[in-house]
Amino acid sequence: MSVRNDILSMIKKYETIIIHRHQRPDPDALGSQVGLAEILRASFPEKNIYQVGGPVEGLEFLALMEEVEDSVYQGALVIVTDTANSPRISDNRYALGEKLIKIDHHPNDEPYGDLVWVNTKASSCSEMIMDFYLMFEDELTLTDNAARLLYGGIVGDTGRFLYPATTSHTLEVAAVLRGCDFDATALNRELEQISMSVAKLAGYVYQNLEVDADGAGKVLISHEMLTEYGIVDSETASVVPLPGTIDEVLAWGLFVQQPEGYYRVRLRSKGPVINEIAKRHHGGGHPLASGANARDMDEVREIYAEIQQACQNFIQEVVE
Ligand code: AMP
Repeated sequence: MSVRNDILSMIKKYETIIIHRHQRPDPDALGSQVGLAEILRASFPEKNIYQVGGPVEGLEFLALMEEVEDSVYQGALVIVTDTANSPRISDNRYALGEKLIKIDHHPNDEPYGDLVWVNTKASSCSEMIMDFYLMFEDELTLTDNAARLLYGGIVGDTGRFLYPATTSHTLEVAAVLRGCDFDATALNRELEQISMSVAKLAGYVYQNLEVDADGAGKVLISHEMLTEYGIVDSETASVVPLPGTIDEVLAWGLFVQQPEGYYRVRLRSKGPVINEIAKRHHGGGHPLASGANARDMDEVREIYAEIQQACQNFIQEVVE
């Protein structure tokens, strides 16, 4: 028996189901959260299904959140998607429910919840929600909007099917989703489009990228700069992959200063494992895509030195 059977049984038992995802949501967090909510709403119209969490800055075209009173959590089932550790769950009232389910594709560093379904081989949590639907296709209903959300989540987390986590299964699942009735061209455009100020920030990233001889890259973006460009933190997502398009770059970090002064660190890699670095600096994530925090410039330098070391080790391993 798969844990998915247990998840469906638990879903069937509860009248109220509240679905959460991680803070600073990306398309996969929203796609998996609201995609699942839509599937459950269509499959069990008698149940109360809610999607909750902080603002979805810049991703309103995907979905909006719902306001839920604390009392609604009483006797409810809470499901959290795409979130490896509990401090990152958006809206900490997730703990007020009667039962908790974790569905995620990140390394299972914190197996919180009464039921835990983690598949680190899945390209995205949206792919997992689709796997859940496909397993119980006779009992569940996939709406066109759920398909749009799940497709958006997969496109987001695979970098348009480019990143190594993209498998033939990912493409099969995506093909089923594309067969549904939604405007994929409009969705892709929404996901890809950037404002003029983000385009200028992209220019800044390319101009100011520092790369060492082993391919360790670093870009620092001060809060002052973001204010000057008129950009909010969530908009920096589209410039994170840019250093990776450069031949010489092997692993890189984007250090984005927050209004409070600390730095949000976004780490990416073409080979060297960087989630161990992230874990040492209040973060985590996938081996090749992680996030962390640096309290000040000293910690920024420390993290960069660790990226440099990871690149050096990686090159040595390849040579040996
Ligand atoms: P980001 O750079 O924010 O797009 O994050 C890249 C990956 O790292 C995503 O899979 C996140 O879920 C994960 N991640 C980012 N920040 C953190 C954090 N503070 N703790 C744990 N995982 C994180």
